[in-house]
Amino acid sequence: MSLTAITTVAHAGDGEVGELTSSGLRWPTDASRILTSTFCEYRPDRFHAGIDFSTHGGDGYECFAVDDGYVLRIRVEHDGYGKVLYLQLDDGRVAVYAHLSRFADEIEEKVRELQLERGGYEVGSFFSSKQFRYLQGEVIAYTGDTGAGAPHLHFEMRRGIDYPYNPSIDGFLVDDDRSPVIRKLALRPLDGDSEVEGDMLTVIRNVRKGRANPVSFYGRVGVSLQAHDFKDGTWYWVGYRRLELIIDGELRHVTSLDSFDYRYDNYSRLDFDYQLDRRGYKDFRRLYVEPPNRLEFYGPRPEGGVLDSRELGPGPHLVQVRVEDDAGNERTATWILQAQSQPSLPRARGEGPPRYSASLDADSCGGDFSVQIVDGVARILAWDLPGWTSRVELVATAAGVSHTMVPYGTGHWMGRAELPLDFRGINRFRVIAFGDSGEVAVIDRALFLSGFHRNRAERWILPDKGIEVRIGKGALWFDMVMSLSEIEPDPQAISPVYAVRPFDHPFAGLFTVAFHSSGSPWPKEAGVCYRERTKGGRWTYIDNRREAEGYIIAAKVYSLEDFAVLLDTVPPVIGRATLSDGARTRLRRPRLAAAVKDTLSGLDLDATSFDLDGENVIWKYDKERDLISYIPWEDLPKGVHRWRIVARDKVGNSTTLERSFRVR
Ligand SMILES: [Zn+2]
Repeated sequence: MSLTAITTVAHAGDGEVGELTSSGLRWPTDASRILTSTFCEYRPDRFHAGIDFSTHGGDGYECFAVDDGYVLRIRVEHDGYGKVLYLQLDDGRVAVYAHLSRFADEIEEKVRELQLERGGYEVGSFFSSKQFRYLQGEVIAYTGDTGAGAPHLHFEMRRGIDYPYNPSIDGFLVDDDRSPVIRKLALRPLDGDSEVEGDMLTVIRNVRKGRANPVSFYGRVGVSLQAHDFKDGTWYWVGYRRLELIIDGELRHVTSLDSFDYRYDNYSRLDFDYQLDRRGYKDFRRLYVEPPNRLEFYGPRPEGGVLDSRELGPGPHLVQVRVEDDAGNERTATWILQAQSQPSLPRARGEGPPRYSASLDADSCGGDFSVQIVDGVARILAWDLPGWTSRVELVATAAGVSHTMVPYGTGHWMGRAELPLDFRGINRFRVIAFGDSGEVAVIDRALFLSGFHRNRAERWILPDKGIEVRIGKGALWFDMVMSLSEIEPDPQAISPVYAVRPFDHPFAGLFTVAFHSSGSPWPKEAGVCYRERTKGGRWTYIDNRREAEGYIIAAKVYSLEDFAVLLDTVPPVIGRATLSDGARTRLRRPRLAAAVKDTLSGLDLDATSFDLDGENVIWKYDKERDLISYIPWEDLPKGVHRWRIVARDKVGNSTTLERSFRVR
């Protein structure tokens, strides 16, 4: 048994099932009525599919069957949901309890059996309706902190196994008289011909006293908002239930966070504003629908949230944004958007490009001018051209266009050039400045560019660069233009460092980045790594899938970053252990644990082993505490016992810990 102290109280049988919700379900725990997260909050690349109950930082609170039903499924994982139980209710709904410290004894026995069968901690199984049946209010498990995160109970309600819905629908509502808070509003130009405040970038405004400062726009734009709710007596930022966008008194868009289909979980990147998220502006939710988005949150008509200055007509328009929480408390913010009759930037050529929804790093082109690609149109910003003020011209070779740039603030010039989707190669951007007395200055920038068509599998190999990008079918929601540039080398890397952009393009699925070696095969300690802009230059290992006898190493990725190949030659470090070598103990089931850490590639949990007296044991790994641990299931005989941990990282480096102890 677990050594965790468990409080047991009487449950069903004496006729008491505890407090019921308005729909007749029992609350899953009595640990607290404090919600620390609500339904459909944003998590990286997914939605929070349930509600989180505070367990006051502790473990071992009882979890109750919310209604009569049976255990449909259990899963035990080191990471993620940890120990999780799916209770199939008799009416077809499913209740999910996650991060449990343990299951009810009879289920725990079954888990033990499965673990012994498999020889490892991570197991999962479905059960028939006859195996583990519970009545409403019976204890089925205990709260914990297994898997990711601090101690709490993560609880979900689902219709069928893959269709989570908002538990507030079933009356899982806590005391709440407070209205949500609208913090910021954002306006995004939705294609390369549209503008906000005379530019191609998203503009963010603070909301104060229910309003935000006016913003001008031209073309097609979309509003997003950052809002949070607070429940009575707590300061946890939680989510809301419903959003409305009202333009000039007309309800144009509704987001109602009622339920979603797990197949479309990654559409969270389209429901929220992924581009802002990648720039550090968290939790902005769109009040318009991106065309590929298949979530069922939206009404009254999917395209209604997009504002078009040409449709609305020039002049001021009143935008009202309304947020409602699950208890019906609401808040409205107003915003005046000024529709322009003309764009202020010279128009991109032709009919307008396809929607790429992308932007390149401003810094990828260096000092004198920068190139960003926004929705397939290059946005060029030139500066520091003192004395060259009479005219600035832009030439982009692939696009084959020449534009006069317009003044942009003080000492800055801006221009834009459409980029063809079918181009692949080096594109030269040239800014030509003409001085007052006829002098001419020319500054060049070259970028490797490639267009990628949605729904087409494509490879982009740069042989002399040794890097390859493979986009499979289904990885793109939008056509896009990608750029690649070799940037400053890193002494830690054994390959050049490449900045692959746009770093903020929302991909629909995984794609591959591969490094080709020209000389000999990559060493076995080599791995493809990325460096996220927001992580202070730290490299993170992704994978080392070896192809072509080790001449290629590849990794599946979900976003564009700085990529390079790094060597991991440092084995895991095993730190403090619960029992020192030669320790004596009176405990017959002593907890055997050691801190195990690995830099770069990380622990390979499948290749790491733990044995006691020569027998493989069922150990678990706590990622938050970097702890590998095992507690004997049965009493150990008196005498000397030996335990050994062999910790292995993902490229095969290993460290061994060997200890003995005596049970007195
Ligand atoms: Zn949760």
